[in-house]
Amino acid sequence: MLLTIRTTHQPATDLGYLLGKNPARAQSFELAFGAAHVFYPEAGDDACTAALLLDVDPVGLVRGSGTLDQYVNDRPYAASSFLSVAISRVLRSAMAGTCRDRPELATTPIPLTARLASVPVRGGEGFLRRLFEPLGYELSAERLPLDETRPEWGDSRYFAVTLATTRPLSELLTHLYVLIPVLDNAKHYWVDDDEVEKLLRHGEGWLPEHPERALIARRYLKHRHSLVRDAISRLVTAEEPGEEENTASHDAEEQAVERTVSLNEQRLQAVVDALKASCAARVLDLGCGEGNLLRRLIREPHLTEIVGVDVAHRSLEIAAEKLKLDRMHEAKRNRIRLLHGSLVYRDRRLEGFDAAAVVEVIEHLDPPRLAAFERAVFASARPGTVIVTTPNAEYNVRWPSLPAGRFRHRDHRFEWTRAELAEWANAVAARHGYTVAFHLVGPMDDEVGSPTQMAIFTRAMEG
Ligand code: SAH
Repeated sequence: MLLTIRTTHQPATDLGYLLGKNPARAQSFELAFGAAHVFYPEAGDDACTAALLLDVDPVGLVRGSGTLDQYVNDRPYAASSFLSVAISRVLRSAMAGTCRDRPELATTPIPLTARLASVPVRGGEGFLRRLFEPLGYELSAERLPLDETRPEWGDSRYFAVTLATTRPLSELLTHLYVLIPVLDNAKHYWVDDDEVEKLLRHGEGWLPEHPERALIARRYLKHRHSLVRDAISRLVTAEEPGEEENTASHDAEEQAVERTVSLNEQRLQAVVDALKASCAARVLDLGCGEGNLLRRLIREPHLTEIVGVDVAHRSLEIAAEKLKLDRMHEAKRNRIRLLHGSLVYRDRRLEGFDAAAVVEVIEHLDPPRLAAFERAVFASARPGTVIVTTPNAEYNVRWPSLPAGRFRHRDHRFEWTRAELAEWANAVAARHGYTVAFHLVGPMDDEVGSPTQMAIFTRAMEG
């Protein structure tokens, strides 16, 4: 397995100092699972590339561990937790950001391009983007064929991945160290009790802010549910709306085999998909909270205007921080706005949009206020499409951690069954000239349905 890191910082051969490896000679290191080689395919003043090549010894592994099956497949050539271990051993001081000969350079942002020759990716290119783009990487990914000599066999689940960025080398190495095992679905080479500490230490300064932090923790600490719970609770510092519900759902989820995508993510993805299907370009996120959906929407280039609305000032501030609005590139910044407003009052600023998402909001309204919400959204703002999600109360019996009769979040004023949502939504649609369709999101249960229900309203042609 091969990782290359290239810089055009000048003089580019300073990369040798940063890595603590002389560009003039190749070096090899013996690790428990094989050999790591560091060498420089190019080393000029204008550009310099370092390569870390890992030669995993499958036979040695088997001899050492006694557990052979999981290692006898792609382990020798695909990037995995072995590569992370090699980075942390062979490039230890570079990853820590220390450099004897160029101390100031170790903390200076420099142009870097990392290339992973072959990464197994469960979840495809979209998943790669969700991991690296929030960190500011420019990512390109190319899916590799199963066998180059046999194109008819089609594609594999391996990607060649290129990540371009300008940042200190230590940050790049740290991100790779944490995220490579997250991409890989195989059993990790390690996972020890102190992995939680390691994850938190290496995640410092970026992981708590990462929109996928829970998913990253779950996959990094693969198959160790008690560790995952510990890590997630320590990554979430401030309490967020919906977090309580997420914890409840995660507990249940962790018992389901091989569930790696949380309900929250599935729900947001379902909303993004529904928005795409509606062909909307100008969209509202009503009750946007801390911007979980907005962060995904801004990554959709076909959306030309994105407006988040919330009644909670503090939530909007957090959304602005998480979106990094103050540092956002101007072209992107011009596409997004946050508005302070209430959904139970008519608001002219919300008129004329193609679509609105109302994600996990209606259950926070007092039932007598629902009529005012209905007027504000369906009579006044009147977007072409309205996507409403809300808990399916029937599913609550399937959350082992939820006492009977309790709502999923203490601020919920009600939680509806599928029939109750249908009754409300059909009446709203009829009153305001919309049609409505219903969907379920999350693990499907024959009896009680899925944990989240979604109503998609489409405005009928007018005139
Ligand atoms: N849609 C977000 C947040 C859901 S929590 C997400 O999925 O992550 C519910 C949000 O609705 C909170 O941020 C709350 O402040 C907001 N909210 C509740 N009543 C509101 C009202 N009347 N007008 C606008 N926002 C409201």
